[in-house]
Amino acid sequence: MSDTMLAERFYGDTKKITLEEIPIPEPGPGQVLIKVAYCGICHSDLSLISGAFPPQLPVVTQGHEASGTIVKLGAGVTGWEEGDRVIPSAGRPCMKCRRCRRGDFTNCLNLQLMAFAYDGAWAQYTVANAAGLTRVPDEVDMKEAAILADAVSTPFGAVVRTGKVHPGNAVAVWGLGGVGTHIVQLARLAGAVPIIALDVNDFTLERALRHGADFAFRSDDPDLFDKLAKATGGRMIDVAFDAVGISATLRQAVASLDNYGKVVVVGMSAQDMNLGNFTEFNLKSKQVLGHIGYKSQDIAMLAEMLKYKRLDLSESVSDVISLKDITKGIERLEKHEGNPIRILVDPWA
Ligand SMILES: [Zn+2]
Ligand SMILES: [Zn+2]
Repeated sequence: MSDTMLAERFYGDTKKITLEEIPIPEPGPGQVLIKVAYCGICHSDLSLISGAFPPQLPVVTQGHEASGTIVKLGAGVTGWEEGDRVIPSAGRPCMKCRRCRRGDFTNCLNLQLMAFAYDGAWAQYTVANAAGLTRVPDEVDMKEAAILADAVSTPFGAVVRTGKVHPGNAVAVWGLGGVGTHIVQLARLAGAVPIIALDVNDFTLERALRHGADFAFRSDDPDLFDKLAKATGGRMIDVAFDAVGISATLRQAVASLDNYGKVVVVGMSAQDMNLGNFTEFNLKSKQVLGHIGYKSQDIAMLAEMLKYKRLDLSESVSDVISLKDITKGIERLEKHEGNPIRILVDPWA
C-alpha cells in the first residue's frame, strides 16, 4: 500500500474542487480505515458547493454515501476485522452534548456530518468510527450498499419513524427524485394503499409507477384534488410526503390530508412554510412533521431487506463514474441529466 491516495478536496473560501494526492489517513482509537468501493453523489454534497450549506472546515473531502472494505483497525477496535465489507455511518456523535454524555449516541444533539465536519469518501480511503458501521451481507452488491446510507435510509426514517405508515394508509408523495422514489418503494413495503405519486416531470412519474405507485398525477393539474378524492374513494390522504420542500408543494400536501392526516416534510429550501387556512388545519386536526436523517440501525435493516430481496434498488444506481470525472458527475446531478437517482463514484477506476 502506498502512503498517498487520490481524493477530492473542496475549498470553503473559493468553493473550488480539486483532485489531489494526499496522505492516507490513520485510523485513531476506535476507528477503522476503509478502502472505498463506491460513494454516491448526493444533493447535500451540492448544497456545500453552491453555498446553501455553510462550510465547516477550510478544506474537506466530500461524499457521505459509501461502501468499502476495512483495511486497518485503530487501537481498541473489537468485533471487526480487516476484509470486512461495511457501510460507514454518515455521522459521528459529538461526545460532548447532554445526550452523548449519558450514552444516547444515536440521539446526539450536535451530530458531526461526514463530508462536512470531517473528511468523506470521494477518495480511495476513508476513516470511520467502528461504532456505527454496518456489515454488508455477502449477497448484497457494494453499489447498492453504498446508497443505503442516506439515499435510502433517510426515506426509511421518513416512512417508518416519522410518518409511521401503516397497512391501509393512503400515501401521497410530492417529488419523485431519488428520495421520493425510495419513499414510494418503502411505503409499498409498509402496506400503504393507494400510493399516489405527484410531480411535474412525466419521466419520474412513470418511474414511480414502475416502483410501486398506484397512481401518478401531475401536481400542476387543475383537477388534482378531484383526482386525489377519486383515487382514495373520497377519504383523501393519511400520510403525505413533501420530498420537494417548497411552499407550493407543502401547501398542496397539507390541503390533500384527511382528518388526522399528516405531512412529513423531507425536502428543504430557504422558502417560508405556508400551510394555508388555520380553521381548516385545526378542524381537521392536521399535522406537519419535519424530518431529517435516520438511525445507524436503519441501514442494517435495509441491508437485510436487500439480502432477502424485499427491496429492489437495481434502478437506483443510475451510473458509475471514475473519481477523476467527479466534476462531470456533479454537473449531471445539478442539471438532472437523465433524471439520475444516484450516480456513484468509483475511486479506483
Ligand atoms: Zn446524501
Ligand atoms: Zn452529542
